[in-house]
Amino acid sequence: MPYPFTEEQRRLRETLRTFALEEVIPGAAERDRTAAYPAQLVARLAELGLMGITIPEEYDGLGLDTPTQLVAMEEVAYGDAALASIYTGHYLGMEGLLLYGDDEQKRRYLAPLARGEQLAGFALTETDAGSDVASIRTEARRAPAGWLIRGSKVFISNAREAGLLLLFAKTDRDAGLDGIGAFAVPTDAAGISYSQPQDKLGIRSAPTYELRLEDVAVESDALIGGEGAGGRIALEVLNRARIDIAAMANGIAMRALQLAADYAAERRQFRRPIRDFQAVQLLLAEMDVAVETGRLAAYRAAALKDEGAGLRRDASIAKYVATENCFACVDRALQIHGGYGYMRESEVERLYRDCRILRIYEGTSQIQLLTIARALARRRDENGAVV
Ligand SMILES: Cc1cc2nc3c(=O)[nH]c(=O)nc-3n(C[C@H](O)[C@H](O)[C@H](O)COP(=O)(O)OP(=O)(O)OC[C@H]3O[C@@H](n4cnc5c(N)ncnc54)[C@H](O)[C@@H]3O)c2cc1C
Repeated sequence: MPYPFTEEQRRLRETLRTFALEEVIPGAAERDRTAAYPAQLVARLAELGLMGITIPEEYDGLGLDTPTQLVAMEEVAYGDAALASIYTGHYLGMEGLLLYGDDEQKRRYLAPLARGEQLAGFALTETDAGSDVASIRTEARRAPAGWLIRGSKVFISNAREAGLLLLFAKTDRDAGLDGIGAFAVPTDAAGISYSQPQDKLGIRSAPTYELRLEDVAVESDALIGGEGAGGRIALEVLNRARIDIAAMANGIAMRALQLAADYAAERRQFRRPIRDFQAVQLLLAEMDVAVETGRLAAYRAAALKDEGAGLRRDASIAKYVATENCFACVDRALQIHGGYGYMRESEVERLYRDCRILRIYEGTSQIQLLTIARALARRRDENGAVV
């Protein structure tokens, strides 16, 4: 166990493991094939009270800690990475409101999301602005009753299914990161249009969309954290939400380990189960190490987050370790399955496609390493020793 789980967290894990095995895994292959949005399962997550785990009770959340949220994310990902992507996208959309919304904004925008009445989304990326957040071009102009937003976004998860997007737009096009505003935008606002879901390699039932915004009018109180604060909000939110992606990676890796261990026990070659071969045992041991270290990194970052400690380096380490480990783990699981693992009907084939996104979104692996390198350059004591 990578973390001293409480009795409540153990019970939540048991409940969600049953949910994953009985309700999520059975339809996952079909949802992947048809790229069908799992509306019923998202509604079940809301029914289970899991849409606002870390949101304070005064805003209709459960007011629990981040490790509890990670338990839920691991187990949802154990069942279906696509459902977990929708689920982590919801928390990504809520985090900025939680951190920077005033009391009135939290009651108006955050509480319905925490109650699970609406899904949240996060709309930052544009065609020419991915890792380079400051170069977004969507603009928000002042209007008599608030703001008019014009521009476009790409790769936005949950966008059409969500009720609310935290959407980033330039309020001053010459001020770089400090010229960005964060806006709470209802997804049915006049002037927003959505593409068809973008066709993609994995997490196929978690839809992503291109958005066009043609003078979308929002009220003054839609601006979260004040004018010019949006760029910093985006970076801080992405940093904190990286821990959720680490947990999602760990859940997928846990599933891959289970499938590989089961298959190695069943599959016989040379008149014995393949798990009797040391070469297969070594692959399984490497997978076990990958799962354990990914989880250690994620729960450590979660504990630091709840202590209010600076997170930038530790969240990047958690995301980097867990997502790279997950990919290595799923690759080994597929290797253990041999040719059967490469076939469409095999669950590890889907995991292999699903887990690839984790090293790209919410900051690529290279961006995580750059963050860690920048922090390393500052970590010297007065004698020059790295601390
Ligand atoms: C399925 C999916 C869902 C997504 N969901 C959302 C969402 O809900 N909301 C949202 O806003 N965005 C979303 N995204 C966008 C995602 O966060 C971006 O794709 C990601 O941040 C990378 O940006 P990019 O694709 O423009 O790649 P780029 O930034 O163009 O990067 C391309 C390559 O260059 C490298 N690179 C870039 N800059 C540097 C540098 N300074 N140093 C070294 N290497 C560098 C990268 O590591 C990468 O390998 C989603 C993307 C996908 C594919």
